[in-house]
Amino acid sequence: MKYYSTSNKNHQVNLKEAVFKGLALDKGLYMPQSIPVLPKEFFANIKKLSFRELSFEIASALFHTDIPLNELKKINDEALDFETPLVNVHDSVYSLELFHGPTLAFKDVGARYMAQMLAYFTRGYQSEIHVLVATSGDTGSAVANGFLGVPGIKVHILYPKGLVSYLQEKQFTTLGQNITALEVEGSFDDCQRLVKEAFVDAEVNSKLTLTSANSINLARLLPQSFYYFNAFRQLQENYGKLAFSVPSGNFGNITSGLIAKKMGLPVDQYIATTNINDVVPEYLRTGKYTARPSMATVANAMDVGDPSNFTRILDLYGNSHKAIANDILGYSYNDTEIKRCISEVSKKHKYLTDPHGATAYMGLSQFLSENKGYTGIFLETAHPAKFSKTVEESLGHTIEIPEKLAEFGKKEKVSLEMAADYLAFREYLMGLNS
Ligand SMILES: *Cc1c(COP(=O)(O)O)cnc(C)c1O
Repeated sequence: MKYYSTSNKNHQVNLKEAVFKGLALDKGLYMPQSIPVLPKEFFANIKKLSFRELSFEIASALFHTDIPLNELKKINDEALDFETPLVNVHDSVYSLELFHGPTLAFKDVGARYMAQMLAYFTRGYQSEIHVLVATSGDTGSAVANGFLGVPGIKVHILYPKGLVSYLQEKQFTTLGQNITALEVEGSFDDCQRLVKEAFVDAEVNSKLTLTSANSINLARLLPQSFYYFNAFRQLQENYGKLAFSVPSGNFGNITSGLIAKKMGLPVDQYIATTNINDVVPEYLRTGKYTARPSMATVANAMDVGDPSNFTRILDLYGNSHKAIANDILGYSYNDTEIKRCISEVSKKHKYLTDPHGATAYMGLSQFLSENKGYTGIFLETAHPAKFSKTVEESLGHTIEIPEKLAEFGKKEKVSLEMAADYLAFREYLMGLNS
C-alpha cells in the first residue's frame, strides 16, 4: 500500500518510508492511500477472536503488501501482550481500559507496535536509528519502554521541565541503556517544535538517520484502531447505537477511531473531549480553527494548543467542516469539573477514572443525557495512579499505587537539561555518533 502526504497527494511512499520519516518532508502527515473495508465474515466471527487475533486480521488487511504475514504475526503478538477490557461502569456506560500495558497508558499499544515494526524494517542495518520523541508525559514512557534494549535504535525523549508528573518522569528518566531524556525549559509545544525542526534540517538528516515516534507516526496511529474493534467485540448483543468518547490532546487516538469507522466499524457518534485547551471543540462548534499556546491543566497529556493530527481529520473528511461536525461532537472541561467528576464517579459508581478519562466520561454523560438508545464507551487512557496527586486531591484520600508503577519510583532520574531553542537541540544532535 502507498501512503500519501496530507500536503500533497502526489507525494507517495511505501510503509517503510512512512514509518521511518514520521513526518513527510513537505511537513504533511502520511495517510493510507486506501483504507480497507473489513469483510462481513470478519464481523460475523469477531466474538470468537482474541484481541491479538482480531488485531492480526486488521493488520493483515492494512500491511500485507509491505510485511510478510509470518513477520507481521510476530510483530503483532510481541506488541500486543496485554488486554483492553471493556468494563461496565453503570447502565449503558462502559469504560474501555487501555492501561493494562507496561507503562499503564494507552500509548503502549502504538508505541510497542511501532518499536516492533521499526526493529523489523531495520534488521541488518549498519548505522544506528535515532528516534526523536516529544512528550507531554505518557508518550515518553510508552516509547522508551517499547524500545528499551532494542539493538541498533537510540531514543531521545524531549519533555517540558516541571510539567510532567513525578512518576511519569521517572518512567523515562530511569531506564538508561539506549534511552536519553532531554529536559527542555519550555512547554510541550516547544518540544514538539524542536523535533519537527530537526526532521526538516538537511544537515542533521545527512548525518543521522532520524525517525519520530510521536502520534504523527503511522506505525502508532493505525494499530490504535485495533482496540476500537476489541471494544465492539466485547459488547452485548442489542447494544443499540454506539458512541465512543475519546479524551483528546494531539487527536491521534480519535483519528485512529475514525479510521476504524472507515474500515467498517459501526460507530454512530464520536465525542472528542478536551481540557481547557479546546481548539478542536471550538472548531467543531464554529468552523474556525485557531491554534494557540497550550495551558497547563490536571489532564496534562492533553495540554496541546495545536493538535498535530487535526490535519489528518481534515484529510479524512475532504476538509468538510459539515462532515466532520456530523461525526464528532466536542466538549471541553476545566480542572474543577475534572476533579469533581473523579470524585462523583468514584462515590456513585465505585469506578476510579484518571483526569483524562474523566473528561471522556463527562462528554459521554452529557451526550447520553440528550440522546437516547445509545451504548456509550469512554476510553480510559491511563491508570488513575499515574496521576495520583490529582486523583487523591479529588477523592480526599490516598489510592493504591500498582507495583509496576511503584518500581519506577525507586530508581534514580537521569536527564540532560536544555533550553527551548533549536540551536541547542541541533548542537546535541550533531554531537551524537551516527
Ligand atoms: C496522550 C494522551 C491522551 C491524548 O491522546 P491523543 O492521541 O494525543 O489525542 C489522553 N490521555 C492520556 C492519558 C494520554 O497519555
